[in-house]
Amino acid sequence: MTTRAAVPPKKVLIIGSGIGGLSTAIILAELGFDVTVLEKNHHPGGVMRSYTRDGIECGVGVHYLGSLDKGQILRTFFDYLGVTEAIPLTRMGGNGIIDRYIFTSPASRLPHFDLPPGMDAYEENLIRAFPAEQEKIARIMDPVRQAAKQLHALDFLSTPDDNFTLLDHYDPFGAVLSNLGCSAELRNVLSVPSSWLGVPLDDCPAYYHNMALASYVSSSWRLERNGAHMADVFAERLVALGGKIITDAEVSRIEVDSRVVKGLHLQSGEKLPAELVIGAVHPKIVLQMLSAPDVKPSYRKRISTLQDTHGIFSVHVSIDAESHREIPHNIFKIETSQRGGISDLKYYQIRRSEKKGRNLLSILTSGMDALWAPWEGTRSGRRGREYLEAKERYAAELVEEAAQMFGALKGAKVIDASTPLTMRDWVNSPGGSAYGVLRSSSQMLATALLNRTAVKGLYLAGQNVMAPGIIGTIMGSFSTVKLILGPDEFKNLVRL
Ligand SMILES: Cc1cc2nc3c(=O)[nH]c(=O)nc-3n(C[C@H](O)[C@H](O)[C@H](O)COP(=O)(O)OP(=O)(O)OC[C@H]3O[C@@H](n4cnc5c(N)ncnc54)[C@H](O)[C@@H]3O)c2cc1C
Repeated sequence: MTTRAAVPPKKVLIIGSGIGGLSTAIILAELGFDVTVLEKNHHPGGVMRSYTRDGIECGVGVHYLGSLDKGQILRTFFDYLGVTEAIPLTRMGGNGIIDRYIFTSPASRLPHFDLPPGMDAYEENLIRAFPAEQEKIARIMDPVRQAAKQLHALDFLSTPDDNFTLLDHYDPFGAVLSNLGCSAELRNVLSVPSSWLGVPLDDCPAYYHNMALASYVSSSWRLERNGAHMADVFAERLVALGGKIITDAEVSRIEVDSRVVKGLHLQSGEKLPAELVIGAVHPKIVLQMLSAPDVKPSYRKRISTLQDTHGIFSVHVSIDAESHREIPHNIFKIETSQRGGISDLKYYQIRRSEKKGRNLLSILTSGMDALWAPWEGTRSGRRGREYLEAKERYAAELVEEAAQMFGALKGAKVIDASTPLTMRDWVNSPGGSAYGVLRSSSQMLATALLNRTAVKGLYLAGQNVMAPGIIGTIMGSFSTVKLILGPDEFKNLVRL
């Protein structure tokens, strides 16, 4: 349910039109704020937005979505934001599988594991695969069930921001599994959800692991259309509420006077005044927009030394649709270390495409930063032939590896490949990081309360303030609005 507000209209400028910027903008526009979103690129959406190659929509940052059943967290968000009806979805798991993990290490005794929809089904699959570890599995599942309850009940909005009673949930999940004495094989299976957040198992707070797992096991969905459509739905909803989006508008500087925000400067030289500014971009990018006296050296140091998640290399391959039908689940090919834990992971999805007779195979894997290091000083579109050839070579290797999994890929044509440098330049993600700030146990204190700054009127939103993923990013949007309004006003005005 949404509530139109009694708050006086305030001019808000939001930097960045990813899902973080757009969802924050919609919440504020619903409340009567005068909202303008500024986006450096030609289209809104950030990494949520897909792009067209060879007549086919290539997804970037939305392969599947969790928790869209009625009463579940993302559905509650979508309903509030007014986008549910306009985003058609396909429920995953009709065949009992959302994700299939395929373990390829020679030492692996478990060839594959299926993540099904539903908490009980997931626990049953674990017990079937590891019958000797039933008790340990029960102890692992209790907090996952708890996390699901807390997620869907939107507890993150009612607990005080500085509630550190959850501290033990921030113990690394790897340590939790070691303390339980879990086998290496069980550890391997349980390593996958932390990889969705870009955090290694041994440094992934148990709470984040449980939340990520719970969000997809609760229910999983694919977009029936594509990420560009989803981005347009969010953008149109904002415009319908009176908000504005200005594209091709790169913000270069945030104007601050005596630690109070005054507005923004664009690369074009234009100056826009505002009482409220929200940086829905990486905090390091916001920091670059502030002058030295605007923030304390301690804040500058904390933000500039934050460790980020790794980048991703992705390949989109057009394949013959007759020979390679859509696969209704995701496939993870996993190499593991002896101790248990992922040493290499490839993600595959085969989906129907907009082009007759063609389907789309998408492959995602780690960014392989060292491969692209020679071009670090270059910009997108100007990296030269050798870079393009290096990309082609690596893409071809990945296609060959995929053929071992799916059989000879009939009519395969690589239609696009992107490196972490692509991501870095496209959405201003530091170092090409895929999921932004690393939500690790070791960085827990440095990453707390990232949506507030010491500058009056300046806030942060986006995947970096709470957690990555569409759910985590929208959670961040609500928590930033709560910070702006204050908890009591938020409770009165925002009825989720
Ligand atoms: C490869 C990949 C796969 C993923 N798969 C999934 C998935 O299947 N499911 C899921 O839930 N999540 C997934 N995610 C995560 C999810 O997509 C992200 O967490 C989320 O979209 C991030 O949104 P954001 O708004 O924080 O950032 P972004 O989308 O990066 O938005 C930031 C925006 O700010 C703009 N910007 C930057 N600097 C400026 C400036 N100076 N001036 C103006 N504009 C600026 C950028 O151009 C961009 O549009 C995936 C992410 C990646 C990278």
